[in-house]
Amino acid sequence: MRFHVMTLFPEMIDAAVNTSILGRAIEKGILSVQSVNIRDYTLDKHNRVDDYTYGGGAGMLMQAQPVYDCYLDISKKLDTDKSPRVVYMTPQGSVFDQKMAKEFAAEEDIIFLCGHYEGIDERVLEKIVTDYVSIGDYVLTGGELPALVCMDAISRMVPGVLGNSESGETESFDDGLLEYPQYSRPEVWMDEAVPEVLMSGHHANIIKWRHEQSLKRTKERRPDLYEKYVASHDKL
Ligand code: SAM
Repeated sequence: MRFHVMTLFPEMIDAAVNTSILGRAIEKGILSVQSVNIRDYTLDKHNRVDDYTYGGGAGMLMQAQPVYDCYLDISKKLDTDKSPRVVYMTPQGSVFDQKMAKEFAAEEDIIFLCGHYEGIDERVLEKIVTDYVSIGDYVLTGGELPALVCMDAISRMVPGVLGNSESGETESFDDGLLEYPQYSRPEVWMDEAVPEVLMSGHHANIIKWRHEQSLKRTKERRPDLYEKYVASHDKL
């Protein structure tokens, strides 16, 4: 899987992707991340990529030309006939979730477009963007952190990225619930013992306990998810 990131701050992307599980997957050749500086494509003699917005108002807007030329250059170098998904990171998009991460993980190439300032000229967005994605209902200064969040979550769904010991099979959101609490050694820590059932070796009881804990935790912490879960299971 290949990620291409259109950004004014490629160093932010480069600094973050080469560590941990993502870095290991890149080293193994399962993933690649290419950050491309939109500024390299500006035709402005002062190297500018932003200008005032028509109609007035505070703040600058990223101009269409450098973004479009950057996109054309990335697309033309892609090693595929399939047109890639172009994901604009924006607070105005659909909120990213685990389902989307799984869906994106089936793609070969994804181009992320990171905005700055007031955002990007609407005309180029209309021409190239296939998906508008937000990471939550708050406004950040740029799209780089959101793109990194998405790349991290998508990568974990790509076969071979997680080792066996990091398997993502039973994680939060997998079945619409949050994951149950987990414990490691020692058996007693600060007078708190690990729940007895986990020490029993009784597989069926452990599964039952974990499911109950998942339900309890989801109800407490994410009542919205809990309601959805209950409604979908009532239908069955
Ligand atoms: N004026 C824009 C608006 O009100 O929708 C916000 C622009 S924001 C200051 C600059 C850039 O940060 C955006 O173009 C986008 O790429 C990124 N960004 C900010 N918040 C985001 C979020 N919640 N999710 C994804 N991207 C975000």
